[in-house]
Order: sequence, then C-alpha cells, then structure tokens
Amino acid sequence: MNNNTILIRYGEIFLKGNNRSYFESLLIKNIKSALNGINYDIEKVGSRIYIDNYTEEDEIKEKLKFIFGIHSYSICKKCESNEEDIIKTSLSLAKSEGSFKIICNRADKTYPQTSLEVAKNIGGIILSKYPNLIVDIHNPDWTITIDIRENKKVYIFKDIITGAGGMPVGCSGSGLLLLSGGIDSPVAGILMTKRGMKISALHFHSYPYTSNMAKEKVISLAEKISSYSYDINLYVVPLTKIQEEIHKNIPEEYMITMMRRFMMRIAEKIALKNSLSCIITGESLAQVASQTIEGITSSNSVVKYLPILRPLIGLDKSEIIEYANKFDTFETSILPYEDCCTVFLPKKPAIHPKLEKIVDLENKLNINELEDDALKNIELIYIKKNM
Ligand code: ATP
Ligand code: MG
Repeated sequence: MNNNTILIRYGEIFLKGNNRSYFESLLIKNIKSALNGINYDIEKVGSRIYIDNYTEEDEIKEKLKFIFGIHSYSICKKCESNEEDIIKTSLSLAKSEGSFKIICNRADKTYPQTSLEVAKNIGGIILSKYPNLIVDIHNPDWTITIDIRENKKVYIFKDIITGAGGMPVGCSGSGLLLLSGGIDSPVAGILMTKRGMKISALHFHSYPYTSNMAKEKVISLAEKISSYSYDINLYVVPLTKIQEEIHKNIPEEYMITMMRRFMMRIAEKIALKNSLSCIITGESLAQVASQTIEGITSSNSVVKYLPILRPLIGLDKSEIIEYANKFDTFETSILPYEDCCTVFLPKKPAIHPKLEKIVDLENKLNINELEDDALKNIELIYIKKNM
C-alpha cells in the first residue's frame, strides 16, 4: 500500500445541473468496472472522485486513460491537515530547479491560514531550501497544488494528467456501428463512445472472396473499441450472395450504391431487433465515390426509423488518422485485408447516382429474400472488454 491518492476531475458532467448525480454515479460505475480485480477504495467528495488505499498505481493510471467522462487526474500525496505535514509533503515534491508556483485551495475554512497565506508560506520554505528557484505565478515550469479538504485531509500534487474527456459510456443509449476493417469506422465508433454511447458492431464479409483474416482483423478492432466501452456484440453477416446477385443483374457502376443500400437495410433490421437506437458509419463527405451527397442520400433513403450518425462527416482523412493514432486503432487498421467493398469493385462507380434510377434498377432484385437469407446466416461474436 502506498500513501498516494488519485484525484479524478470530471469535465462536462460538472455542467449537468440537477442530473449531475446520475452522470457521477455512472462514471463511478464505469471506473469500478474498469478497475475490476484491483483492490482500492473510491469516494466522491464534492465534485471530485478520490481513489485510495491501492498498490497497483501504474495499472490504475493506465486504465483511467480509457474512461470517458474523466477530464483529468493527479497522483496526490496525502497528509494530515497541519502545517508541519503540509511543509514536509510539499518539500518532498519540490524540484531544485526552474521556476515554480504554489496554489492552495482551502475547502476546509477551519484551517487556521488562508489559502494565500499557505501558498506564500510553503513557497518561501521551498525557496529557502533551493535558492536557485524562481517564483513565476504566470508561466511556471512546475506547480505544486495544495488541496485542504473538509475531511481534514490534505492532498498535494504536482502534475495534472489529461484524461480521455467526453461523457461516461452508457449515458447516451446504444448504437450499431458499421465496422469495416478500415481506418474510419473504428474511429467513428470510439467518437460516439466518447459521447457516452454504448456500441454494438456489424461487419459484412464476402467469404470466400474475403478471407478469415479479414474477420480476425475486425475482431481486433472491436476489441480496441471495447477498451473504451463495455463488452461488444459483433454481428457478422455474409454479403456474398447479395453481391453476386447485384453483379449479375445491375450495371457495374451501381454496384457500390446498391451494396450500401443492402447494408443499411440489414443494419436497421438488426438494430431494431436488438433495441439499438441508431446506426453509425465512418463516412466522410467526398472521401470516396459512395460518400458524395447523392451516395449518402441513396443509402439514407432505405432507413425508415433510425437516425444514421456519421461523426466523421466533416473530417479530412489526415484528421481521422490523427484520431486513429490517438485511439491506437491505426496500426491494426492498416494491416492488409480485403474488404467486401473491394470485391467486384467497378472501374468507374457512379458518383452522383440518381435515386429514381437506383430504385428502378433495384426492383430487378428480390430484396426481401436476399436480406432474409443473409440474416439467417448471421454470426454473433461476443467481444469481452479487454482493459
Ligand atoms: P473505413 O475506413 O471505415 O473502411 P472507407 O473509407 O473504406 O471507411 P467505405 O468503404 O466507403 O469507406 O465505407 C464507408 C462506411 O461504410 C465505413 O466507414 C463503414 O461504416 C461502412 N462499411 C464499409 N464496409 C463495411 C463492411 N464490410 N462491414 C460493415 N460496414 C462497412
Ligand atoms: Mg472500408
């Protein structure tokens, strides 16, 4: 056991007025679920969460990085609420070089000095021990913060570690992510998770045109998403027969447009059946032929009840890659694989497909029968949260 305490600050939850306690409880529940198997105490005091009485500090720090709703956290030294202990603990954190500043927050108004007096006093003592130091209250190299709490404990820390931000997962319902093996869709899923949404995923494969490796890759990506979320239901649906029928009956430039309409219809059926309240894709406007406004209109028009969320719609590829690196999905996404979209790929896809033309062509296919058949062969893979 060490004598440290982890102080957790939350960001936007803070603004939630009367609903704040709901968000706080959810965040605490998510922290407990992430730290399952580790011994510690957790307590909410005021608008902070404190983790105490633990030994595995590095492991806890690593896991906190993945919890949405945490704005920042600090590893604090804890001491008793008296001058001698505060001096000793502050000195143990002080550096001997650079410029510095002392901040004091005194929530316990019975403490005999004001926060300004504490800051000046401790600053002076540190300066007299390390005469090379310079006080700089505007732009210091390092800061020591002294938090004198109502519970007669004092928490003293130097660094503020940035958390994942966002809202606690579970506060925004649940959605079905169309997950390919590419760069974009895992980022789209994690961004929705960041806003508090629980994720289920749907992947279409074209076995035997696409290999089992492609499926394995999607499982790895779903595992990455689950680090930020809960366990994930991954639905895998064969698209092969649908693609063969489209290939046989529809002019090749409409291949992708048609395929995306099938994907969306099937996605809505799966979402409704499993009480998921929206469909999420990794589309970004103008990125490829199917992501023009006409392409999006065409795939939107087959979804009857649910909203389709496209969190990447206004991002450049380079910005999406930045997120993919930040969320650690990039390296997995760039492993070689064949996506079902690349099977029977047309040389010149329709960039501005007209909806009437598409509907006209689509009527040549037995849509319901093809979809029922695909749904009959659905496979459910349960992805256990891996962090
Ligand atoms: P990604 O990098 O996510 O694969 P992309 O740039 O390759 O995206 P498209 O192939 O046009 O773009 O796909 C657009 C979106 O359609 C994807 O972000 C994803 O949400 C969905 N999608 C594409 N292929 C599949 C698939 N095989 N299974 C499930 N969803 C898919
Ligand atoms: Mg793709």
